[in-house]
Amino acid sequence: MNIFIMGAPGSGKGTFSTKIKEEFNLNHISTGDIFRANIAGGTELGLQAKAYSEKGLLVPDEITNKMVKDYLNTLEDKKNGYLLDGYPRTLAQAKAFEEMTEGTDLAVEKIVYMDVPFDELTRRITGRRTCKKCGEIYNIYSKPSKVEGVCDVCGGELTQRKDDNEESLKVRLDEYAKNTEPVIAYYEEKNMVSRIDASKSMEEIWPDLKEALKNK
Ligand code: AMP
Repeated sequence: MNIFIMGAPGSGKGTFSTKIKEEFNLNHISTGDIFRANIAGGTELGLQAKAYSEKGLLVPDEITNKMVKDYLNTLEDKKNGYLLDGYPRTLAQAKAFEEMTEGTDLAVEKIVYMDVPFDELTRRITGRRTCKKCGEIYNIYSKPSKVEGVCDVCGGELTQRKDDNEESLKVRLDEYAKNTEPVIAYYEEKNMVSRIDASKSMEEIWPDLKEALKNK
């Protein structure tokens, strides 16, 4: 099963990707995580992405498409397919991906759209904290760790993403409305989208998601 998980910043893509990939034994790629790791590591890709990413802007399509293509080419273990999180975010990316994969076993089969009203997103994003060590995601309002600043799972330090502030969030939401909503509409026309009401609690969302993916 080859899946894109889509939704605005703060819609729960990262949190539920971990659960989906485990439940369905999928390869998982988050373009945002790859950019962050490259920026932290000071690689060539990181240097290219840094100026855009830290302001909340999308990294140019050519850089992003190449990165995804490189990843797909290295996929030896196809498991049961892939879960692409945070890609495609523009129509140009969607079309480039189609060209790369059409007629192959890497073509996308299903789009999961995590639907959350915009006013709820700000609270989620500014409260988000991530474990530096294992990547577990918390929220100081809705899912706090037992000890402030410390990961329940591995004891690692919890940090706030550089782009999780109000200024950069506004840019990210604008980018989303301008570039990514048309991508969802594009796949909706092809009848490939399962819309999940992701404003519900985590306990309620998970069964909905599993159901949507089983009814592929
Ligand atoms: P995310 O973790 O998915 O919110 O992504 C964080 C940042 O990485 C975004 O604000 C962009 O700067 C960059 N990024 C991630 N995925 C893409 C993409 N598909 N196209 C362009 N930029 C991206």
